[in-house]
Amino acid sequence: MCIFCDLVKSADSSSVLVNDDAYVCVRDINPVSPIHLLFIPKKHIGSLNECSDEETVGKIMCDMKKIAKKMNIDSYRVVVNTGKDAGQTVEHLHFHLLGGRTFDWPPG
Ligand code: 5GP
Ligand code: ZN
Repeated sequence: MCIFCDLVKSADSSSVLVNDDAYVCVRDINPVSPIHLLFIPKKHIGSLNECSDEETVGKIMCDMKKIAKKMNIDSYRVVVNTGKDAGQTVEHLHFHLLGGRTFDWPPG
């Protein structure tokens, strides 16, 4: 069982900002910035390490700027935590779009 596969299955218009053929975009349940969105491929892919779906990854990356523009932010951070040491907690590939505040570099 995978919580993001369940989320994709039960995605409805009240919680989903974008329902694309290949992915959904939702607000993170525990936001770490004023804007914190998750882009989740509909297909189960464990992490970037298991990913060869260039089309879906390309679509997500290119659509992120459109969503950022809709949210009125032109400065934002895209994060793909991959593996436990990098902070991945859900083992279904997802892309964080973070914005609405300043971010430190390097990340903690
Ligand atoms: P990770 O730590 O794997 O990079 O990110 C997982 C993210 O998923 C976390 O930011 C967490 O708050 C979010 N998350 C976990 N469960 C749910 C959920 O059921 N719905 C939503 N919208 N976000 C979730
Ligand atoms: Zn899954």
